[in-house]
Parts: sequence; structure tokens; C-alpha cells
Amino acid sequence: MNNSQNHTFRPESLMMSYGYKPELSEGAIKCPIFQTSTFVFRSAEEGKAFFEVAYGLRDKNVGEEMGLIYSRINNPDLEILENRLSLWDGADDCAVFESGMSAITTVLLEFLKPGDLLLCSSPLYGGSDHFIKHFLPKLGIHYLEFQAGQSTAQIMELLEKSGMKDKLAMIYIETPANPTNALIDIEGCSQLAKQLSTPDKRVYVAVDNTYMGPLWQHPLQLGADFSLYSATKYIGGHSDVIAGACCGSKEVITRVKTLRTFLGNMAGPWTGWLLLRSLETLKVRMEQQAANAVHVADFLKNHPKVEKVYYLGLLDAVADAEQYRIYKKQYSSPGAMLAFDVVGGEKEAFKVLNAMKLIKLAVSLGSTESLAEHPDTMTHAGVACEHKKHLNITGKMVRLSVGVENYQDIIWDLEQALAAV
Ligand SMILES: *Cc1c(COP(=O)(O)O)cnc(C)c1O
Repeated sequence: MNNSQNHTFRPESLMMSYGYKPELSEGAIKCPIFQTSTFVFRSAEEGKAFFEVAYGLRDKNVGEEMGLIYSRINNPDLEILENRLSLWDGADDCAVFESGMSAITTVLLEFLKPGDLLLCSSPLYGGSDHFIKHFLPKLGIHYLEFQAGQSTAQIMELLEKSGMKDKLAMIYIETPANPTNALIDIEGCSQLAKQLSTPDKRVYVAVDNTYMGPLWQHPLQLGADFSLYSATKYIGGHSDVIAGACCGSKEVITRVKTLRTFLGNMAGPWTGWLLLRSLETLKVRMEQQAANAVHVADFLKNHPKVEKVYYLGLLDAVADAEQYRIYKKQYSSPGAMLAFDVVGGEKEAFKVLNAMKLIKLAVSLGSTESLAEHPDTMTHAGVACEHKKHLNITGKMVRLSVGVENYQDIIWDLEQALAAV
């Protein structure tokens, strides 16, 4: 389908049409919102056949398509969205959810069981961190943390020391780490997982790809099993929808979708439709945001009131050799997320945040408008103080998600806000 007379269209060329058949919807050029809970079967035999496939009672026949049954199981807005999202990651399939958190928690619940060990990176998104540390232990699932920036060899050493290496069931990572942009080698983690897998127990690798996906980092191509998203961020891109997604092989996504059917945490048709609309401009938005971020980082790094800038484009090939190596191999762009330390502390950082006129003071990221926030007291307020210090998250840090505005206006805003200090 992705192939027209031996020409393979790129994902951005397919975002307007892939997977949608206008002839099934009165010729409408855009996929309508299928605001319906259930679907009419043409015959009892057809209903029976659809259920056999949906419940895995038999495999699909050649050319047979999964029929529409009920919107908790499938809906055209979700299926088309899943087909289009799969293209960016080169995935077999994708499952969309009502939030990033529901995508993440569904994968953890499906692939972990009592007694298992989950190896995870730190820092993690606050919601993921809480679920792993406060909910999973109630199911008897243990966790072990390593720090973003640690090498694969150091991670292996940590595992050896824990005495629980044989219990390892999944490696869960977030790279680049929020808000410092510390990097983890996905390929290294995939090799480690392979090494520790046995014929009857596979160790899975899950990557939260919200920060750099689906454009600039492709975890599945580096050996990971899951590429997870808060689609609320770059994929949605307009700060008007909460959603999530998980991409992977046919085998793992079938399991994810089965649990989703029973948890009932799929996205609704209206969310699916909004995301289909967002995907049409995904690449132009993200490229503009990244291009703006280059200018913004350049401005900040030379500013006398800025102590340090955390931005992948500023990694030094010599001073940050290992991080630089991962950056060059794993990413096709420095992205559009950065953080900076204001000279001073919380008081000075707050002055900057309060003085901004164009950039909005809000958490979340990846949207068309530039957003700034204070990790120490906002997104990372729940992280223990000692640990935060270790991660370089202090009162003087401001996190910036660069939007699509004219970069000169963003810089003007930052300049006048820094002048307020
Ligand atoms: C926002 C976010 C999440 C959670 O996604 P929701 O859509 O808010 O549920 C998970 N991971 C990262 C990295 C995020 O930024």
C-alpha cells in the first residue's frame, strides 16, 4: 500500500490519505468522525466471523480485514490513526490510548508479573515514576533504577550487584531525560536485554519516545520492543488533546490491544480525529520548532545571566564524548526541548518566568506555542531533593519547549525577561 509503481512515499506524504478510503464515506476527502458506539453487521455469519478474529479464536484468512464491532474494540478514526502512526516508527502496528499514561501503564501491566524486576532509567516522567514506585510494588513487581547518562557497562554492573538479574523482565527508558537531556544508549540496552533473555523468558525494552519522536528517534530500529508516546505533546501538537500511543511488532501490539480492550482505555473517535488532523502538519511543525531551538540555544549560551544551557546541539565532541557518541548515532536532530540555569537561584528563575510576554508559563511540551516552566517546583516537585541535586535539577533551572513562533520574537521575549533579573 505504501508503494506506488515502485515508489515508496515518505510518511509526511501519506499523512493526508493513508488507510482511508473516501468511497466508503460518500467521497468525503477527510475521514469523518465516526461518533458511534457500535457497528451494524450485514449478517449473523459476518458478526460471528468478526468476533472469531477479535477474540483470537482463529487467525485472519488471507485478505480478510478485521471487521468493525464496537468502539471499545475498534473504530475507523482509531484504526486509520494507528496505521498512520506506525509509518513514522516503521512499526508493524500501533495502539492508541486516551492518554500517554494509559499507553505506558497498559504496557507495564501486560508484560510484567509478580516477582519480575523492572530496570528503569532516572529521571522518568512523574506519572511513570509514581506508577513504577508506588503501584507496581503492590503487585509484587520490583524496580531498579539507573541514571540517564550511565553507560551500558555501568548498568550491567548495577544489575549484577542487585542479585536480581535473573528476574529482569523489562528495561524501561526515557531518553533524552527530562529536563536535562541526558542520553541513554537504546541499542546498548537492547543488546543487554537480548543477552539476559532466555528461550522461555524474553526481556523487553520499552522507550518513552515523547521528547524526540516520532520524527527524530526511532527506538524500534535500535532493537527496542515498544515506542511509547504521550500523543498530547508533539503528535497532538496544539495543546488541545490528551492521548497516547504505543508502536511495536504485530505480536506485542496484539497483546497490548487485547488488554486495552478489557481496561477500556482506548481513545475516543473525536480524539482520533483531532490527532489525524495534527499528523498532517507533524513534520513541518517539528522541523520549525527544532530550527527555532537552534537560534534560541545560541542566544542563551552567550547570555551573561545564563549559567548553563542543556541542549543536545551544544554537546561537545570531546568534553561530552560518550553522550555525543549516543547523540550522533541515535538522533537526527537536537530537538526543540532545552533547559537553562539562570545565574542565581529560584528567585531569579521566577523573575524570568514571570516576565515572559509571548512564552506561556505552563507545563507540557511539544505544542505550537512556546512554553516555559520551573522543573524544581513544578514537573519534578515530587523527586527527592538529594536526587534532584544529583540530576542537576535546581531552583535556577528553567525548561523551555520551543514553539513555531518567529524565533526573533522568542529571543526578544527571553532577552527582556532575563533583563528583569
Ligand atoms: C506528558 C508525558 C507523559 C504522560 O502523558 P499524558 O498524555 O499526559 O498522559 C509521559 N511521558 C512523557 C515523557 C511526557 O512528557
